[in-house]
Amino acid sequence: MFWHEQIETLDCPALQALQLKRLRETVGRLERVPFYRGKFLAAGLKPEDIKSPADVRRLPFTTAADLRENYPDGLLAVSREEVLRLHTSSGTTGKPKALFFSRRDVETAAELIARALCMTGVTRRDVFQNMMSYGLFTGGLVMHYGAEKVGCMVIPAGPGTSERQLLLMQDFRTTVVHILPSYALYFADFLEKKGVDPRKSLALRKAFVGAEPHTEETRRNIEAALGVDVYNSYGLTEMNGPGVAFECEGKCGMHVWEDNFVLEIINPATGEPVADGQPGELVLTSINREAMPLLRYRTRDLTSIIPGPCACGRTHRRIHRITGRSDDMLIVRGVNIFPQQIERVLMGMPQIGRNYLIQLEGLDDMTVKVELSPAAFDGQVGHLAELQHQVEEKLRAELWLRPKVDLVASGSLPVAEGKAKRVIDKRSL
Ligand code: AMP
Ligand code: ZN
Repeated sequence: MFWHEQIETLDCPALQALQLKRLRETVGRLERVPFYRGKFLAAGLKPEDIKSPADVRRLPFTTAADLRENYPDGLLAVSREEVLRLHTSSGTTGKPKALFFSRRDVETAAELIARALCMTGVTRRDVFQNMMSYGLFTGGLVMHYGAEKVGCMVIPAGPGTSERQLLLMQDFRTTVVHILPSYALYFADFLEKKGVDPRKSLALRKAFVGAEPHTEETRRNIEAALGVDVYNSYGLTEMNGPGVAFECEGKCGMHVWEDNFVLEIINPATGEPVADGQPGELVLTSINREAMPLLRYRTRDLTSIIPGPCACGRTHRRIHRITGRSDDMLIVRGVNIFPQQIERVLMGMPQIGRNYLIQLEGLDDMTVKVELSPAAFDGQVGHLAELQHQVEEKLRAELWLRPKVDLVASGSLPVAEGKAKRVIDKRSL
């Protein structure tokens, strides 16, 4: 199903022509922003110099540090009166990154979500329970207005307790949820412990998961446990929040809405483009924003472009699920490790539960605390020792180093209300 078939299936020349027009307009708009004006002057660059979308490479990068340095409103491209909404992303320490929305930006953000929901078959007959946090985080409000645009009945549940989520799902026959993958795993455990079989007592059919990296194994785990189709939803505050890239029904990569974002994949070390299909850092330019467009934003998210057309007929290119953030990479005993590698191993083992924590201590000691699945412990300690050995071996094969594995009871590891914190690094290096 299409929300806006003509735009979603624009052929390549038409899509590029639209990108070029919008990219030029954006550069023109950014001449009002001292941060960008200075960079354009230094490079002797004018909007007319942009002759194709590929000329985006002539423009300067923007980094998270630039957003923080220009906090609160140094990158605002319209007058204050034209701003309708503010969102921020906290991320690491220090000042947040602020993003402003004009009226048109608010509407566009909702439209992109509507496209995304529609392409997975969500309709006005659906009951949409948004279990993401409402407030400065975009996952609440931006998704909310997109689902309303489709005409769903939206339940703004927020992150609340699992008891309350379940009650809402049962009483209002929720069919679609928007949920963090880490919370979806926790919620699956909660239902299992309560003896609730979602296939029998709930009306759930789809889950949109995003806002944090997760693996294909995690998707399958959630699908099996909740009896739903799980779709990957990617976004970031700097680019509206959710709705930047979404999976279609084929579930093979996420379409980036290229009429709104110019997409590049670069080598994070050199800043140079990688060959099509090769992994690298995703760089996005917002070409359809008014209040605060950003040029060549370094997302730090690692992915690759999936070459070739998609069976759904949409022409907007697809990216692979995010394999991690370049700043998430851990270096342990000289080995580069992404938390996703560990998750992939754990989620592929049925005896293993749905929560884990990576701890780094001392000089370079890595312990992976792993919850057992609620049904795994049969009281025989010998079995546990064997399982622990198995997990250590599988991790060794994946990581090329052998971490210590601690098996812990289901439900005993901390669960964050927002995005999961999977790594605690207390190394004294
Ligand atoms: P925020 O600005 O707080 O919404 O955080 C945005 C960041 O969350 C992105 O840059 C990614 O690192 C991460 N993220 C969002 N959606 C996904 C997703 N579907 N898969 C992996 N990481 C994601
Ligand atoms: Zn598709």
